[in-house]
Amino acid sequence: MDYRAFFTNALDGLRQEGRYRVFADIERVAGAFPRARYHDGERVRDVIVWCSNDYLGMGQNDKVRQAMHRSIDLCGTGAGGTRNIAGTNHSHVLLERELADLHGKEAALLFTSGYVSNWAALSTLAAKLPNCVVLSDAGNHASMIEGIRHSRADYRIFKHNSPEDLARCLREVEPGRAKLVAFESVYSMDGDIAPIAELCDVAEQYDAMTYLDEVHAVGLYGRHGAGIAERDGVMNRLTIIQGTLGKAFGVVGGYIASSAPVVDFVRSFASGFIFTTALPPMLAAGALASVRHLKESQREREAQQRHVRMLRERLDERGIPHLANPSHIVPVMVGDPVKCRTVANLLLDDFDIYIQPINYPTVPRGTERLRITPSPLHSRADIYRLVAALDEVWEQTGLARAPGVIRKQ
Ligand code: PMP
Repeated sequence: MDYRAFFTNALDGLRQEGRYRVFADIERVAGAFPRARYHDGERVRDVIVWCSNDYLGMGQNDKVRQAMHRSIDLCGTGAGGTRNIAGTNHSHVLLERELADLHGKEAALLFTSGYVSNWAALSTLAAKLPNCVVLSDAGNHASMIEGIRHSRADYRIFKHNSPEDLARCLREVEPGRAKLVAFESVYSMDGDIAPIAELCDVAEQYDAMTYLDEVHAVGLYGRHGAGIAERDGVMNRLTIIQGTLGKAFGVVGGYIASSAPVVDFVRSFASGFIFTTALPPMLAAGALASVRHLKESQREREAQQRHVRMLRERLDERGIPHLANPSHIVPVMVGDPVKCRTVANLLLDDFDIYIQPINYPTVPRGTERLRITPSPLHSRADIYRLVAALDEVWEQTGLARAPGVIRKQ
């Protein structure tokens, strides 16, 4: 077999479908967020990043950086082993306690990423719970879907954010089976938010466990940055809350928080937790500083929300179409993969603005978009410049203007 031809043909297929992904080669500059250097072959230029998931700029925060430096000086670099064999460092223990406290749970467990935490926890729970059926929101992230599939448990997909459809699915489950309802709080591409209380009402009615992914909400919502469940006063109604340390907390890693037996169970049975080297202690130390900071400080959250409002108002003034949603994610809709790339290229080439175009399969065809994430560190002038640039690019490319915001059907 011509293995090389197999791989190159598969990649050509992706290119023909417009799905081949090209990395933007950027170099973050300490203390300068959201400014960064963009490497374009030989050419290097300064750009403003408008699509980072370092939502609050905590990846540049002094306390976080100092905590990581201190940890390297004290503990060195790697953890030295799996959590069970020499890899558990005191920073992991402190961070797990802090995360449990943040979410009002008895215990928490760290993983090497949010992806791994979803995959490992869901695959373990769904496989081991007796005769389990998983009820999965239609919009769930790949990491949840992969975990559920890997468990080989039965699963049903309920309509996105629909407690009624969840109830319909649960009614059809034979009595006596274990049930696990898995959903997210803030959905990353549309920025819409789950009706958590209503979904919990239904889950409780049918005696189902609940699993909430708060990856795009932790650090950002709630008085202490514990997420939408904290904001809505429903943390205690969720069996398991999952989060990441890689987005608003600005570092890397994932976790679950739950009751002591659930966490101990996942710790004891999940291969994605057991058989891999622990996070470097410096990452746990940095994340700990970040979580502690955002537990107390409202400054970053408030500034971010102010900038989100400001951006939406300016977009409305110019008729730049964007999805209405109640979150910090501003999806500017283009609706065509080629035009989406053209818009992104013009923003980069003519205005030194970096926004990655989002195309199929990350979003459905026909809904290609620029996913814009204003941070507390963008200035008012940055926002005006961004909208002026979008305005000009819209003019140049003849893209349609929207009289108002777009509401999803
Ligand atoms: N859940 C959701 C909803 C996500 O969007 C992502 C990543 N984009 C993850 C989980 C994975 O988190 P991490 O990036 O920490 O692996």
